[in-house]
Amino acid sequence: MSGLRKPPRTADTSTVSRPRRAGSLLSRPFEAPLEREFQVARNASRSRWFVPTALLGLVFFDFYVLLDLVLAPQVLELSLWLRLGLVTPLTLAGLGLRRWWIAARPGSRIDVPLVAGAASLVVGTLAVLQRSAPEALGGAYFAGALVVVVFFGTLLRNDVRGAAGVLVTMVAAFGCGQWYVGSDPVAIQTTALLAVAVSGLFGLVLAGTLEESERARFLAERRERRLAAEREELIAALARAAVRDELTGLLNRRGLLEHVAAHPRSAGRGGVLLVDVDHFKELNDRFGHLEGDRCLTLVADALASACRPTDVVARFGGEEFVVVLDGAVGDDPEEVDVHVAAERVRTAVRERRLPHPRGGVVTVSVGAARGDWAAALAAADEAVYAAKTAGRDTVVVVPAAPSAAAAS
Ligand code: GH3
Ligand code: MG
Ligand code: MG
Repeated sequence: MSGLRKPPRTADTSTVSRPRRAGSLLSRPFEAPLEREFQVARNASRSRWFVPTALLGLVFFDFYVLLDLVLAPQVLELSLWLRLGLVTPLTLAGLGLRRWWIAARPGSRIDVPLVAGAASLVVGTLAVLQRSAPEALGGAYFAGALVVVVFFGTLLRNDVRGAAGVLVTMVAAFGCGQWYVGSDPVAIQTTALLAVAVSGLFGLVLAGTLEESERARFLAERRERRLAAEREELIAALARAAVRDELTGLLNRRGLLEHVAAHPRSAGRGGVLLVDVDHFKELNDRFGHLEGDRCLTLVADALASACRPTDVVARFGGEEFVVVLDGAVGDDPEEVDVHVAAERVRTAVRERRLPHPRGGVVTVSVGAARGDWAAALAAADEAVYAAKTAGRDTVVVVPAAPSAAAAS
């Protein structure tokens, strides 16, 4: 038997896409951690139909008391005791035990011993009833045993190893029952036993097929979930990248505009600084673009460290940066000291002492304006040109024109 055993499978994608052989009797388990995950998922989905199916089977079994009433009224009392007093409470207790056990050990295969035990119990009950009225219940016992094989071996959908265990238990229980009843000729008993065993074998083939498709579905769903998670991550990463400047890590122009749109109040009541690196083209041309990039990174760093956490610093394009000052001082836009903030930024860049090809250090010109975002940006843009004309490395503050919203 061990020679037939195949190696454990992995979640390798080729396993998922490879067409599966139908009716495989020996369904291969996965590797240990994956197998556990499979058993947990299997128990979770089984629980949805296992208990209702078991209860339905129990109801049918109890209703068979009517057959006893018709065929052998003399066993009616015994039948009631066995069905309602023994099998029913034991089944309900078994279902309760199953629920508790699976809650504590979600990957356990407790269904196998439970199903095997219940099948033996039912076969035993039928045997006891038949022995009490062998004439009247002769064929009923055999027919009942076949129903038991179909119900416990097929309808409760065991995996193939479980189904094999249940089958062996059922055949043994049926054999013992035959021996216990002992009325029929040996030939009939052997035929009945064979019939039970063969129908059980059919159930075993079915269990193999079913388990294979369950495993394939589990792998496919797992892969689908993983792909969906990767897709989500990728979308989130793209969304993050779309609003960030790759070089400096600051918000880019799109990120800034999105921020301003999403926080109209803080933009409306604060101020805007437009920061432009002085003679940056010369630095680029003399020291090379890589050095220019390094300069931009350091300027960005200086800006971020000179601003408050509630301010928003963005690279607007090229060597131009924008700072949106939050009006955290109060609701009055005049309370934001735009000039102080602009001076802090200018000084912070100077203090980095980045050498400039002109001989001094890298400096910035800052145009600053208070008030509504759109109007303040336009005013700061004019102010930065004024700062350039004034000799660079300087701050010019202008009042923003009142916005349409503010004017109305
Ligand atoms: P001004 O003092 O008048 O602002 O002069 P400037 O040289 O700083 O301004 P200008 O607009 O003439 O030059 C800006 C330069 O910035 C030109 C462009 O090659 C460079 N630049 C724009 N983006 C990048 C970048 O991402 N990396 C580097 N290294 N250079 C950039
Ligand atoms: Mg510029
Ligand atoms: Mg410049």
